[in-house]
Formats: sequence, structure tokens, C-alpha cells
Amino acid sequence: MEFGFSEELLEIKRIIRDFAENEIRPHVMEWDEKQIFPLDTLKRLGQLGFLGVLIPTEFGGAGLGYAEYVTIVEELSRIDGSVGISVAAHNSLCTGHIYNFGTDDQRRRFVVPLAKGEKLGAWSLTEPEAGSDAGGTQTIARLDGNHWVLNGQKTFTTHGTYGDVCVAMAVTDKSAGHHGISAFILEKGTPGFSSGKKENKLGLRASDTSTMIFEECRLPKENLLGELGHGFIDALKVLDGGRISIAALGVGMAQGAYEAALNYAKQWKQFGKPIADFQAIQFKLADMATEIDAARLLMHRAAWMKDQGMLTTAQSSMAKLYAGEVAVRVANECVQVHGGYGFIKDYPAEKFYRDVKLCTIGEGTSEIQRLVIAREILRM
Ligand SMILES: Cc1cc2nc3c(=O)[nH]c(=O)nc-3n(C[C@H](O)[C@H](O)[C@H](O)COP(=O)(O)OP(=O)(O)OC[C@H]3O[C@@H](n4cnc5c(N)ncnc54)[C@H](O)[C@@H]3O)c2cc1C
Repeated sequence: MEFGFSEELLEIKRIIRDFAENEIRPHVMEWDEKQIFPLDTLKRLGQLGFLGVLIPTEFGGAGLGYAEYVTIVEELSRIDGSVGISVAAHNSLCTGHIYNFGTDDQRRRFVVPLAKGEKLGAWSLTEPEAGSDAGGTQTIARLDGNHWVLNGQKTFTTHGTYGDVCVAMAVTDKSAGHHGISAFILEKGTPGFSSGKKENKLGLRASDTSTMIFEECRLPKENLLGELGHGFIDALKVLDGGRISIAALGVGMAQGAYEAALNYAKQWKQFGKPIADFQAIQFKLADMATEIDAARLLMHRAAWMKDQGMLTTAQSSMAKLYAGEVAVRVANECVQVHGGYGFIKDYPAEKFYRDVKLCTIGEGTSEIQRLVIAREILRM
């Protein structure tokens, strides 16, 4: 068992950290307050290969593994979770779904421009009445000659407004339950396919979270992704990978909040000395550092297993559950360490406090992760 990182991984970490410090940090609060989606920054990340991290070079990607991928998401999220969630949704959800379950033709048409960062990807599973119970999808796809015709609505889609390519799940056989849901690839501009409300959110406000609407949306038959009736089953496999990147989002934001608390505690004085001299503050910092380390280890264990081609359903959920809850605890203590200034927008604490909450909700709530973990434990 090795706990060190390869030189290559450390180099990637240095590059992405420099990028985040120089090209993201100066804009974080403006993007957050004005809800500006940083499209140009994502394009730059694409040029650097960070929008096709897991895709082989022959399909326009960087040809890296999950160890590198989670490091990239962690480093971006350390500065801004909004950029972290964008990169995660683009890479492991949309691009990953098409690469892993698409035909060679679909890989050439869609994965190549997505992996090169020329196009931005979205992935639509959640519906207004089918979130945790995603198998209760109501969007319908009916076959009409050589076309699929989609009708329905999706909610909370990351890149629902800015995405160029969207993978969406729809019911193709109502009587077949989970085996009657299929996946489809949609392109921006397809008649009958539009984005609706862009959500005004508690946190991750620079990320784009929008409704997607399908009204008699006609898709060529070849836009079916994966086998007919396998869309939901494939989506669960996609989420096994996606949840590791939400763990990385949590670890990154927790790390950012911890560093903010540590710096503040060393500089801010009360009773004539830095508050870091008080044991109550030291214990907070010790707990934060320990929990973040534990979350990072769970994240890297799941990433390592994924890179070995192993099934990671339980390990992905454990990493996502723990990292998400640690991020919430750490951000809470970060505000506490800052005292009144933790409540004020001049300091980074309040933004971390708002942003981290997504980690216990997105790609399956903490309750759903516990259900998944329990099901896997009992099955073994
Ligand atoms: C910022 C953001 C980005 C998102 N991006 C995407 C995206 O790109 N694509 C996408 O498809 N979705 C996306 N989502 C949706 C997200 O995955 C869902 O919000 C999440 O799965 C929860 O579904 P829900 O909101 O419908 O909550 P609900 O399912 O209605 O849950 C409400 C509450 O009930 C609990 N609950 C539900 N069922 C059970 C149960 N069986 N046992 C115990 N408790 C239960 C939940 O844990 C929760 O506490 C995003 C959401 C947000 C907020």
C-alpha cells in the first residue's frame, strides 16, 4: 500500500493549483454575487485538457485516470466550488456517459469536441417529481419512424443553460420499470429542446443549474445512447464515478475553508494573543485537519479502485457521504473561528458555508448514500 503521489500527479496538482490561484481566485466573489457563469475560464480549462481528463487521447482527451481527475476537481474546488462542480458534471457525467456507453460514431461526434473543451456537457436525470427516486422518471420518448420524440421536463441540470450537448434519460417502455428508461444525446438548438429557469441558488452561485424542457423534441434514432432500456442502469454506473468527483468537490472546499480558518486563527488576536493559542480553537483545527485527511483517503481509495477497473458502488458512496458531511462541518467551524467576520462577505468563510451544502444533496443526498452503502453491505 502506497500513500505517496507520483511525480506526474504532483506536477498536475501544481499546474491546476496555479491556474486556480491566478485565474479563478481574483474573480470568485464577483462571480458569486452576480451569478456569472465563468464560460471563458471553462474554455481555458478545456484548452489545458481538464475537460477531457478521463478520455483517451485518441478521442481528444488527456488520457489520465481518476487519481488525477479527483486531484483536479479538489484543487479547483479549494478556490471555487462552482468551477469544481462544472468540471465534475462535464467530465464524469455527460462526457463519461457518452464515452463509456456510446458507439464509436457517437464518441467521434460528441466525445471529441467535449473532451477538447470545444463544447460543454450537461447530464439530465433529475425531474421535478423524480429526484432521489430517479427511477420514477416521467419524461417520455416515443418512437416515430426513424425518430425518437421526447416530451417532459428535467430540473436542476448543471449546464442546463450553457451546455451544448446533453445526455437525458427518458421512459421508452412504461411497463418495464427501471429497465424501461433509455438515455439520449441532445444538442443545443434541436427544435423542441430548450432550457427553462436558471436557478437562483444558496451556494455555488456561479455554476449554471437550470430546467430543461422537451416539447415534441425529435431526435434521430442514432441519438439513443447505450442499449434501449438500459439508460437508468447505465446512469447508476455513471453515478459511481460521479460521486467520487462530488467527494473531491467536498474535500476541496473543506480544504479551502480549513486553510482560511487556520490563517485567520494565526493572525487574529483576542486577549492579547492569536486565537490559535487557545486550545478550543486548536481542537477545532485538529478536528478539521483529521476529518479532511480521512475524507481524502476515502476519495483516493475509490479513485484507485476505479482506475483498477473495480466496482466502486459502496466505496464511491462512502467517499461522497463522508466528504460531503465533513465539508459541511468544516465550513461551519470555519465561520465560527472567524467570529463575526465569518458572517461578513469580506472573508471567504461565509461562501464556503453556503457552497458546501450541495455536497450532501447533489448526485444523491446523504440519506440516499446511506441506503446505497447499506444495500451493498447487506448484499455482500
Ligand atoms: C446545484 C445542483 C446541481 C445539480 N446538478 C444535477 C445535474 O447536473 N443532473 C441531475 O440529473 N441532477 C442534478 N441535481 C439534482 C440532485 O441530484 C437532486 O437534487 C438530488 O438527487 C435530490 O433529489 P431532490 O432534490 O428531488 O430531493 P428529494 O428526492 O425530493 O429528497 C427530499 C428529501 O427526502 C429524502 N429522501 C428521499 N427519498 C428518501 C428515502 N427513500 N429514504 C430516506 N430519505 C429520502 C432526501 O434525502 C431529502 O432529504 C443537482 C442539484 C443541485 C442542487
